[in-house]
Formats: sequence, structure tokens, C-alpha cells
Amino acid sequence: MQHTHLKHQFVTQIPEQLQAGVLYISMEYATAIHLCCCGCGEEVVTPLTPHDWNMKFDGETVTLSPSIGNWSFACRSHYFIRRGRIIKAGSWTNEEVEANRRIDRVAKADYYSNLEQTPVVNPTQEIPHPESQEKTSFLRLWLDSTRAFWRNLRRTSKH
Ligand SMILES: [Zn+2]
Repeated sequence: MQHTHLKHQFVTQIPEQLQAGVLYISMEYATAIHLCCCGCGEEVVTPLTPHDWNMKFDGETVTLSPSIGNWSFACRSHYFIRRGRIIKAGSWTNEEVEANRRIDRVAKADYYSNLEQTPVVNPTQEIPHPESQEKTSFLRLWLDSTRAFWRNLRRTSKH
């Protein structure tokens, strides 16, 4: 591992020329990018989403989780970014990589289909709400008292 630490840099636009040893973070695009820490020079793009990477900024250092597995690069490096430090992780077999990708796909599909299924209010399935019951009884009370008022009024007008 050529780099043991990553400095973080918050940017709005990802610079054209990336510097090795720097983790560029764009909050606007919810993406972090850095050059592979093994020194191969490949760009590692880590989108920040509930199902990709999560970033933790403690005010001084940045932690990315889960680990960075550069399986599509020739180096196949695998490491953690913990509080700005690079921690080398064990290499995965192709089977492990594929199994993880499958889990990932299912989790993502599940997440995005849940987002599309926004709860629809079905009027036929209206469950009596304690508040609406309260309103009904209040309304009934009001109606009763109004009826009583008119009854009394009629009675008094007869006199
Ligand atoms: Zn590499």
C-alpha cells in the first residue's frame, strides 16, 4: 500500500487532476473520489448513498464504510478508510466478490422499490381514528344542543 493516510478535501466539483493521497468529497453530488491507495493511479469513485458508502466526518478525519474493494482494477486492492487511515484488508476471491455483488443488487433493488411504493391512502380502508371519533361526538353534542335551543325557542315563541 503506497498510501497509509488519506487527507480529505471537501469540494463542490471533483477536480480534473486528482492528487494521490487525497479523498475528495462532494456533498453536492454525494460522492467521494480518490486515487487507489495501492499507487496504481486508478480512480476510485464511492457514491454516498444508503446502499453504497457511508461517510463519517468527526470534524478532523473521515471514515468510509464499508471497505473499498477495487476488484475491477488490476491491483484488486482492498482496504478500509478509518479516520483518515488506510487499513489493508484481505483480498477476496471471485466467488466472494460475486456473492457480495448479488447481496448488494438485492438490497438496492429492495431499497429503490420501497421508495417508489409511496403509501397510498385508500379511502375504503379508512380506520376509525380516535380524533375523528372525538370530532363526531363533539358534533353530535353541538347538534343536540342546537336542536334543544330551537325546541326551546319554538316553545317560547308559542307563548
Ligand atoms: Zn490500485
